[in-house]
Amino acid sequence: MAEEWVEQMQNQVNTLEKLEKFINVSASEREAIETLDTRWGISPYFASLMDKDDPNCPIRMQMIPSMKEQVNQFGMTDYLVWKENRATEEVRPDCIARQYHDRIAFTVIETCAVYCRHCFRKELVIDQELQLRFDLDEGLTWITEHTEIRDVLVTGGDPLLLSDEKLEYLIGKLREIPHVEMIRIGSRLPIVLPQRITEGLKKAIGGFHRVPVWLNTQCNHPKEITEKTAKAVYELMSCGINVGNQAVLMKGINDDVETFKELHLKLLRIRIRPYYVFYCEAAPGIDHFRTSVEKGAELIRDALRGHTTGLAQPMYVLATNIGKIPLMPDYYIVDKNEKEYTLRNHKGETTKIPNIPG
Ligand SMILES: *Cc1c(COP(=O)(O)O)cnc(C)c1O
Ligand code: SF4
Repeated sequence: MAEEWVEQMQNQVNTLEKLEKFINVSASEREAIETLDTRWGISPYFASLMDKDDPNCPIRMQMIPSMKEQVNQFGMTDYLVWKENRATEEVRPDCIARQYHDRIAFTVIETCAVYCRHCFRKELVIDQELQLRFDLDEGLTWITEHTEIRDVLVTGGDPLLLSDEKLEYLIGKLREIPHVEMIRIGSRLPIVLPQRITEGLKKAIGGFHRVPVWLNTQCNHPKEITEKTAKAVYELMSCGINVGNQAVLMKGINDDVETFKELHLKLLRIRIRPYYVFYCEAAPGIDHFRTSVEKGAELIRDALRGHTTGLAQPMYVLATNIGKIPLMPDYYIVDKNEKEYTLRNHKGETTKIPNIPG
């Protein structure tokens, strides 16, 4: 018998008929599914978390195609080529995206358990306009030859959809490269298909090794977190894998103070450490998800910093072709002179500390 996660993949909800078993499909959702030529799909597990009657359910908004995807006023064409520096002089295999000197993103698969409508890699993952060649061995050879690479971020698609055997091979080979100090896996599966975290997977990628594995998942709304995810995270940690979160800031989904705060507190309750909140990138066809650039910093100011546990504080970043640019709230320093700094806290109170000449 196939493992449960494999069955989930075989039964991906990707037709109107299958979707109707989970929700009362609205007229506009139906129109988008019938009109748009787009790859979509939801794991049955994640589909079961959708609100049956509310089309504004945050999971429905992230998962079900929308006619709004046809609008593209602010998105950039060939976004990924720009973002991943694919047009530069340095010769690299298609599977390697590089923005930094000491670390790279290594794309190992194009499929996902769910196809997020806001995906910044949609040209590759959803529209499949960008055709790239993903060859594990080609990537491994490139990394072996580049001794400055100490941190390898394994991405996709969703890398945890590789079989246990393939993952064991990939992670094992990376661990053999002397200059590789750490491996990071970007996977949405702990949230959208927690059944994937099996004993076999733990054996394939976990354990006490010289090279640790860190995993960053993507959770954007407290509604995405269940007991199953809590257990999956615990299982990952039990074999030495740290779990962080990279959320995407999205209009109408998590851009209000209450949801934003509850998301970060709920992540900590199940042992996930918030790492980044991303501004929704300028990929084509996702204008409707985008907020103002400042919104994320304002939310950190109004919902998190000072208001709650320091561990709940992600860094808000704008992902660009030259790297991730942090954008912090800017209210802290009210005044500065030769003698002292005047500082403000989250309640608007001020205090002073001496300015030491540098
Ligand atoms: C995001 C990213 C990284 C990792 O960035 P960190 O800030 O170290 O998490 C590395 N390479 C590429 C191409 C990336 O997009
Ligand atoms: S799981 Fe990640 S790569 Fe896949 S569609 Fe969602 S955001 Fe894109």
